[in-house]
Amino acid sequence: MTVGELRVAIVGAGIGGLTLAIALRQHGIHAEIYEKASELREVGAAVAFAANGERLLDRLGVTVELAGASMSPPDLVYRHWRDGRLLAEHSIDGGLHTLHRVDFQRALVKVWDDEVELGATLVDLDSGEHDVRLKFADGRTASAEVVIGADGVHSTVRNWLTGGPGDAMYSGTSGFRGLVPVERLPSLPRPDAVQFWLGPGGHLLHYPIADGSVINFLAVVDAPAVWHAKNWVVGTDPGEQVAAFAGWHPAVTEMIAATDLPQRWGLFAHPPLNSWSRGRVALLGDAAHAMLPHQGQGANQTVEDAVALANLLATEEIPNAFRYYERLRRTRTRQVQRSSWDTSAILHLPDGPEADERDRKLAKFPENFRWIHDYDVERALT
Ligand SMILES: Cc1cc2nc3c(=O)[nH]c(=O)nc-3n(C[C@H](O)[C@H](O)[C@H](O)COP(=O)(O)OP(=O)(O)OC[C@H]3O[C@@H](n4cnc5c(N)ncnc54)[C@H](O)[C@@H]3O)c2cc1C
Repeated sequence: MTVGELRVAIVGAGIGGLTLAIALRQHGIHAEIYEKASELREVGAAVAFAANGERLLDRLGVTVELAGASMSPPDLVYRHWRDGRLLAEHSIDGGLHTLHRVDFQRALVKVWDDEVELGATLVDLDSGEHDVRLKFADGRTASAEVVIGADGVHSTVRNWLTGGPGDAMYSGTSGFRGLVPVERLPSLPRPDAVQFWLGPGGHLLHYPIADGSVINFLAVVDAPAVWHAKNWVVGTDPGEQVAAFAGWHPAVTEMIAATDLPQRWGLFAHPPLNSWSRGRVALLGDAAHAMLPHQGQGANQTVEDAVALANLLATEEIPNAFRYYERLRRTRTRQVQRSSWDTSAILHLPDGPEADERDRKLAKFPENFRWIHDYDVERALT
């Protein structure tokens, strides 16, 4: 069989599924995409691409479609939670691009410019020696020689592969996300920057999107101690988020109060999986390595997965393609997962000697995380 004849099915048309389909096509492999949503519409606010994801999107022809929609904040700034004093400032110099998620998905769909089977909710798989049968909620079926589960954090394919839903780890932290027009933030210094406000038991991260007129933020607190809800997103009581940041700098409280924040997001990560594949089925993206957002790497790692997997499916037979893919990606994503988990506590230290020590180390943060951003997955494949 030639590479062009390989029949690949991708479950999920999110960032991972669409990127994989585009990357496979660059290698001459066509993929069918099955998506449970009845239309392609992104949830959430914004997304930021760091150099490690950006260089891959560039090669896939996606960034050119983002011209005018993405921003490149010039600096990364850290500030004290109460008095707003500058703790550290680093030039990012084109190393990060921020944009609305809707614009990003639009660009992926435009580059893909092919079919996505919508309203196709995968419910089960049946894996044989030569192909895999996909079963959907409405009774539809399909078959492929290779199936990739890019179906996100609550992945059906992962459940099939591991034999159960697994236990997601609650981080003891939860977040509020929002978008605020910049004119509603008169106290905010450096609205053009990627800026962290670090305080006891919480932090606020914000960056500009949409020509700088809108600020996207994520505010995280060390609460509740236990997450009892079945869902990872719950409704909020009026004023709950404002109370969580009482006493913080006016720039922070203004931002939190400027918009309705009807939801609180529990921040969870999945423990690393022992295996990312079974037979002719493999996982990619959040389905394989859901992580906390504190390195801003969920989507970036997903793009790295997609490029690596496309390359290996084009050059290796199953099961070797999956074996090399897992070997390369499990180590890397575990390191990033771990780093994201550890970063949370560091950002939330109470004022005192430990926070002072952290603040001194902030001067070296970009250098310390170069291993994340300098990485080129295509180079790692050679
Ligand atoms: C608000 C927000 C902000 C974020 N910001 C950043 C950031 O700045 N930088 C960063 O790197 N990461 C960020 N992330 C994380 C990033 O969005 C995820 O890591 C990334 O979307 C993972 O891509 P994915 O394709 O694996 O999953 P998803 O994008 O979640 O896509 C999964 C797709 O599968 C579909 N699906 C699910 N189940 C089925 C089924 N049974 N059958 C068929 N289809 C199914 C879903 O409908 C969805 O379309 C953010 C996440 C959120 C929520």
